[in-house]
Amino acid sequence: MNVADSEVVASILSGSGYETTEKIEDAGLILINTCSIRDNAEQRIWGRLKAIKHLKKENSGLKIGVIGCMAERLKEQLLDTEKLVDIVAGPDAYRQLPLLVEEAESGHKAVNVLLSREETYADISPVRMDKNGVSSFVSIMRGCNNMCAYCVVPYVRGAERSRNPESVLREVNELYSMGYREVTLLGQNVDSYKWKETGNPVGFPGLLSKVAAIDKGLRVRFSTSHPKDISDELLHTMAEHSNICKHIHLPAQSGSSRILKLMNRDYTREWYMDRVEAVKRIIPDCALSTDMIAGFCTETDEDHKESLSLMEWVGFDFAYMFRYSERPGTKAARKYKDDVPEEIKASRLNEMIALQNRLSARSKKNDIGRVHEVLIEGFSKRSDDNLAGRTSQNKVVVFPAAGHIKGEYVNVIIERSTSATLIGNII
Ligand code: SAH
Ligand code: SF4
Repeated sequence: MNVADSEVVASILSGSGYETTEKIEDAGLILINTCSIRDNAEQRIWGRLKAIKHLKKENSGLKIGVIGCMAERLKEQLLDTEKLVDIVAGPDAYRQLPLLVEEAESGHKAVNVLLSREETYADISPVRMDKNGVSSFVSIMRGCNNMCAYCVVPYVRGAERSRNPESVLREVNELYSMGYREVTLLGQNVDSYKWKETGNPVGFPGLLSKVAAIDKGLRVRFSTSHPKDISDELLHTMAEHSNICKHIHLPAQSGSSRILKLMNRDYTREWYMDRVEAVKRIIPDCALSTDMIAGFCTETDEDHKESLSLMEWVGFDFAYMFRYSERPGTKAARKYKDDVPEEIKASRLNEMIALQNRLSARSKKNDIGRVHEVLIEGFSKRSDDNLAGRTSQNKVVVFPAAGHIKGEYVNVIIERSTSATLIGNII
């Protein structure tokens, strides 16, 4: 999400004559795009600010800005930081950045953290900052209306708003004509995408079909799906289009219905299992991944075991796992006690990670001997003799180049796997 936002910011500033540079020492303006989702994300930004402090001494004209979620949440603290930060802009204030930079240049602190009900940056063609030129992100909505008890997103990114489908299609068409062969449609809860200005309303399955229809040679991914909203209609749309990738990121967060209720997730363990059964029935070759939180308020050993047993039951191909981190202002911070000791959070998280390592390894083993269509994204990290790309199920595959180049599709037979990668040969 932050990559997509940085690309919008680069586009807005390039309209005012700014260019991006690869070398931080050459910059006259440094903008740090920030995330507030967990405390350690914010700690990293404070560390980064300290690390670039010396640049200001070396270049007195240099302006430093903090943008995004942390700007929204912590504007006062940021402005107090030893006169380091000149510009603070929240996630709905990026259009104002050229003015804010001007203000900073005239010696004032420049701040805008107003949240908007409408801003989607629909008309802005992001400046692509990805390196591979093959896969790219496209925001289809901003904000979130869900109020999960642990989550700061609704407070720092505001209410949910969907982007005009025409502007999404225009952007994806542009990417395709530039040579991109994969787009990932982004939103905090893509299943609640809705657009109705005139005529028929467009929901997420409708938008996804339209994007997939641009060209069969364009892969389409999306993230994130919310278990309470993911519909059979969406699953059927995925099954109907060969170029919609067979992978769903469906964050469960916990396997205990009691904890899910406290988290305000609006589904139970049984509901989640029912949705997974629907995925497996309608799209048998679909990969599933999740986000899990260890040690949410009041979580007992029993609740934790239910998280582990759900992970095992689903057999996730991949997971992001976090220890619960209390975020100021959220419902959990206001109403519940962060009462699971840190060492228990850590040991539960380690158990989850160990289990997921086993599940991921099993998922990769199952691919051995199978042939997968792979979109080549570039050379492998280790050697220019090998290429790397991903399967529809989002697994990374490395194989000898054999004269192929990035952006091409090849069929690869999987011969073995390492902890993170499938290894094979083009057939
Ligand atoms: N909109 C997505 C998630 C966005 S945040 C969804 O609803 O699934 C990405 C992940 O960060 C979440 O899925 C959650 O697992 C984790 N997360 C969010 N707030 C957290 C917190 N306070 N402590 C620990 N993990 C958190
Ligand atoms: Fe946060 Fe929940 Fe919204 Fe995801 S759905 S961004 S976890 S409030």
